[in-house]
Amino acid sequence: MSERTLLLAGNWKMNHDHLEAIATVQKLAWSLEDAKLDDASCEVVVIPPFTDLRSVQTLIQGDKLWLRYGAQDVSRHQPGAHTGEIAASFLSRLGCSYVVVGHSERRADNHETNEIVAAKIRAAVGHDLTPILCVGESLAERQDGHHIDFTLGQMEESLAGFTAAELDGLVIAYEPVWAIGTGETATAADAAEMAAAIRQRLAERFGDGLAAATRILYGGSVKADNVAEIVASPDVDGALVGGASLSGPDFAALCKAAVGK
Ligand code: PEP
Repeated sequence: MSERTLLLAGNWKMNHDHLEAIATVQKLAWSLEDAKLDDASCEVVVIPPFTDLRSVQTLIQGDKLWLRYGAQDVSRHQPGAHTGEIAASFLSRLGCSYVVVGHSERRADNHETNEIVAAKIRAAVGHDLTPILCVGESLAERQDGHHIDFTLGQMEESLAGFTAAELDGLVIAYEPVWAIGTGETATAADAAEMAAAIRQRLAERFGDGLAAATRILYGGSVKADNVAEIVASPDVDGALVGGASLSGPDFAALCKAAVGK
């Protein structure tokens, strides 16, 4: 049995304003109540849009809810003249535990390179935010049989220049682009194969300690009815969930299924 705590993170993307966010988190908390989940069983994280974070913080902290939250992106810059950007220090002060970096939608829509992603990780770890680094191949790379090389290359470039100590707590999300929001899920065997390759490469680059401690998630059309099979692999430590995290009850059902409740 792995020492790593199962992590179930719901990336809402650009869905839910701050009022909808409050209702969603309340319903999630209520729907999870009967399962009596605790830190020993798993960690449940919501990742709303920036404009919801203050409301989510107030609710979670005020009602002492057993949930964590994070942001979908972070600026690589320090606070200053960068219109529209959100600094890591701001997210940290809002009580965020996690920040997603390098999501494929940001890589595609905002031309984020691995170098930019590395700079965002640098900003995050400098302010005690745990990065959830997203990597994963497109359909063309998978069909060509280059999916492992491509994904490991993305990871290595995004982690270039870091020491193992700086990456303590790191989370990697393997998200094949062809499986995101499409209803196409990689098989549990595909997810397991990539997670094992990621862990091995982490060991080669950063040592066995970091490789053993890093949580590796799978993301791409994960739902309550497929999550248990996916997280059954010893190298898959949870899921990054988009669509199925938008409804509190649905995400709660997924979390319960993942821990076998
Ligand atoms: C995601 O956005 O990271 C994701 C995995 O989305 P979905 O679950 O909707 O495929």
